[in-house]
Amino acid sequence: MTDFTKTREMFDIPAGMTYLNGNSLGPMPRACEASVVSFLNDEWKTELIKGWNTKNWFTQTNTIGDRVGKLIGAPTGTTVLGDTLSIKVFQAVAAGLAMVPDRRVILSDNGNFPTDLYMVEGLMKLKNDGYDLRTPDPLDVMDQINEDVAVVMLTEVDYRTGYKHDMTAVIAKAHSVGAVVVWDLAHSAGAIPVDVMAANADFAIGCTYKFLNGGPGSPAFIYVAERLHSSVEPALSGWFSHAAPFAFDLSYRPAKNIERLRIGTPSIAAFSLLSAALDIWDHVDMNDLRTRSIELCELFIREVEKRCKGVTLASPRDPYQRGSHVSFEFEHGFACMQALIAEKVIGDFRAPNIMRFGIAPLFNDEKDILRAVEKLEDILNNETWKEDRFRHRGLVT
Ligand SMILES: *Cc1c(COP(=O)(O)O)cnc(C)c1O
Repeated sequence: MTDFTKTREMFDIPAGMTYLNGNSLGPMPRACEASVVSFLNDEWKTELIKGWNTKNWFTQTNTIGDRVGKLIGAPTGTTVLGDTLSIKVFQAVAAGLAMVPDRRVILSDNGNFPTDLYMVEGLMKLKNDGYDLRTPDPLDVMDQINEDVAVVMLTEVDYRTGYKHDMTAVIAKAHSVGAVVVWDLAHSAGAIPVDVMAANADFAIGCTYKFLNGGPGSPAFIYVAERLHSSVEPALSGWFSHAAPFAFDLSYRPAKNIERLRIGTPSIAAFSLLSAALDIWDHVDMNDLRTRSIELCELFIREVEKRCKGVTLASPRDPYQRGSHVSFEFEHGFACMQALIAEKVIGDFRAPNIMRFGIAPLFNDEKDILRAVEKLEDILNNETWKEDRFRHRGLVT
């Protein structure tokens, strides 16, 4: 059994803070400090350029990538790190379209995170070849998978509601009509068990600063099924994806394997943080994590519905149709979340009216849940959210 009191101790969360936003930015693992200091003193300062070889910087895209891959059921050699998730969307969808050249439809849903849709819009404009992006309601996606579709691009767990697609069913249907599937695991990796092998996924991408706690700007990941490695076309053909980067050839030849999804020089400093954050997962069983997450989410929903008037559950009621965050609709959701934050209960707000609470068993427990409910109850009863100071919207909500 995973000992979640032990994993909680591995994080440095400010005293008095109830942090329910690990789905947006994971808190700092204590081990990150020593790891980045060691990178500075024992690697960059002392090794300088030699570090690419002596400290294996050049292969960390893969070695640390494999550790992330392990958390989504990916075998060694199928996951690499680098860049941002937006860029991984572009890479994966571009590669998927190249595999089904005779079709012109990309199917997503209207619950997808906007950057995923924006990146596809940019890609379609660049290709300028009659592509069409369809965004039905999440529940209608299955019905719209047909022989017109080249690529199905979905975020497994909806960033607002927490609604979870049935990955295995979507892939089976897409494959049966000859479509390729790209999964965005931004709200899945480190939140719920994922098994890309069992589901027979083609492409999976995600970020490492949410439930994986790698820190702001931590590198994204891309998984490509091994059966596709020799045919996948890298649209972003940077030198790190070349068959022989240090031959400095004037023209491009893709690397034979997952390396062809690398692009350029990654942030090695960020790897030192992510690597320390990933150590925590050595102590965690994903099935235990899921059980615990459901317990805490159920407790939260039950208590909010009992005690907090005027808010409506925006997440699926069935825990197996949810990821690891819970959302409530409230007309004055923005101001209410600001009032919660003033009470050191940190969740976030997603337009137009959603208050979102990430529940991460690695560091959240019953006390966090009950404290958040208590503060929410107070704010609603006293209408504290009406205060002027809770109206101001910062650059980031
Ligand atoms: C968080 C998130 C992103 C963020 O993309 P970045 O390029 O890392 O800023 C993209 N897609 C989804 C589904 C997300 O949840």
